[in-house]
Amino acid sequence: MAYQYDVAVIGGGPAGYVAAIKAAQLGGKVILFEKDVVGGTCLNRGCIPTKTYIKTAEYIQNIKHSANRGIKIDVSSMVVEMPRIVEYKNTVVKKLTGGVGALLRSNAVEVIKGTAVMKSEHEIEANGTVYTTNSVILAGGSKAGIIPIEGIDHAKVVTSDGILEITEVPKSLAVMGGGVIGCEIATAFVAFGSKVTIVELADRLVPAMDSDVSKAIKKSLESMGVEVRLGQKVEKITDNNGNPVLNISGGATVEADCVLLSIGRVSDLECLGTLKDKIVVERGKIVVDDEMRTQIPNIFAAGDINGRCMLAHAAFKMGEVAAENALGGNAKANLSHVPGCLYTMPEAASVGMTQEEASAQGEINVGYFPLGGNGRALASGEPEGFVKVIADKKYGEILGVHIVGGVATEMIIEGSVMMDMEITVHEAAEIIHPHPTYGEAFMEACADALGKCIHLPKKK
Ligand code: FAD
Repeated sequence: MAYQYDVAVIGGGPAGYVAAIKAAQLGGKVILFEKDVVGGTCLNRGCIPTKTYIKTAEYIQNIKHSANRGIKIDVSSMVVEMPRIVEYKNTVVKKLTGGVGALLRSNAVEVIKGTAVMKSEHEIEANGTVYTTNSVILAGGSKAGIIPIEGIDHAKVVTSDGILEITEVPKSLAVMGGGVIGCEIATAFVAFGSKVTIVELADRLVPAMDSDVSKAIKKSLESMGVEVRLGQKVEKITDNNGNPVLNISGGATVEADCVLLSIGRVSDLECLGTLKDKIVVERGKIVVDDEMRTQIPNIFAAGDINGRCMLAHAAFKMGEVAAENALGGNAKANLSHVPGCLYTMPEAASVGMTQEEASAQGEINVGYFPLGGNGRALASGEPEGFVKVIADKKYGEILGVHIVGGVATEMIIEGSVMMDMEITVHEAAEIIHPHPTYGEAFMEACADALGKCIHLPKKK
């Protein structure tokens, strides 16, 4: 049977728009359905809006600390105009989403605005029309997770979508969940002037990251004025004169003008339509193999919807792989060295195993270099942080890299590349890094793992 399209993509986020462009580049006739604005969570409500806010927060911090560097400003006259902050963010978002739209057009991808649902294995319905296709790529992404506790529907409890739209800085903000999203938004709003409290169930912030990273981030958030409450469970949310009050197990309460719910993300499975009982879903995520194929051979699922790695850069790769395979290829997505980044102040980034995970698997060497010993970091007024490299003791294979520091999210790529290329810690320690750069700290940490770091005192 002849179908109207070679590939149909549902969802125009990082996984979906990249899949559509890739499929078109490979010669496919492609249609993409997007119910909102192309660019998905990442461009509209995620990566880019939050990083725009974090940059604004960085300006505020720099202005506050400018006297240390000999710049005299009357900081007390500084006014944070939230409507302008939102407007600036929206301008950045519009530019990028417009760019994605232009890329789709230039690749002759047909874009349909509307909610799309599967009608059968080769049919998709949107806006009352049925479209037929040879292959399908499901890229519906994810949405904020909600916990079913009493009071969660309080008008002043918002998710990351909502907080990125508010045009008034709340006097106080309680953040439920100290993961990546919670810590980033806490960083932005404490700089904007809110009194921020993070309530986290686990015994540390960003529990998926190395515990040294968690400790450093807690310290930096506290130094900015954030109150961090660990190991505390919110049991219900009550109301006091219109404000939400978090009721924590044990009896403590936290009242705030606004509550951010940031307890994780769940896949958006609306696109499954009539295939919802046919496509295998486990713990709310579509099950796929390394080729991004569901158990129905012509249907693929890429990005957050499959829950393999809920990050935009992983979604890009999964989208490309799905597109190649939707057109008969056999590409695989290797997600083993995908870095995870945290845009706090300072930033943090990790790739590979944490120290706890690596030491559970065998004997390791740990190299550690504090940024307080790095010339560029000191010159930049950012001496907080470190580079930690975990290597296998016998062969020197790099198993994990964890960085906290001014440009950690840029530096981490060196760790990813080396792990991908299987460069050992011995080889990495020999590579000449430019001076002065933060990157030297990576080389020094590799040398430290071998006990031969030049710029650290001799170990006793
Ligand atoms: P999405 O980006 O969620 O896109 C899915 C798209 O599909 C959406 O546009 C949606 O409207 C559309 N859609 C869904 N169902 C249908 C349907 N039935 N019909 C038509 N359209 C449909 N990741 C990073 O790597 N770095 C970061 O710094 C980062 N920061 C983040 C900050 C926040 C606050 C949040 C919430 C997320 C952040 N992420 C970050 C995660 C990142 O946004 C996601 O991993 C990424 O967007 C996933 O891409 P995706 O294409 O799978 O899904």
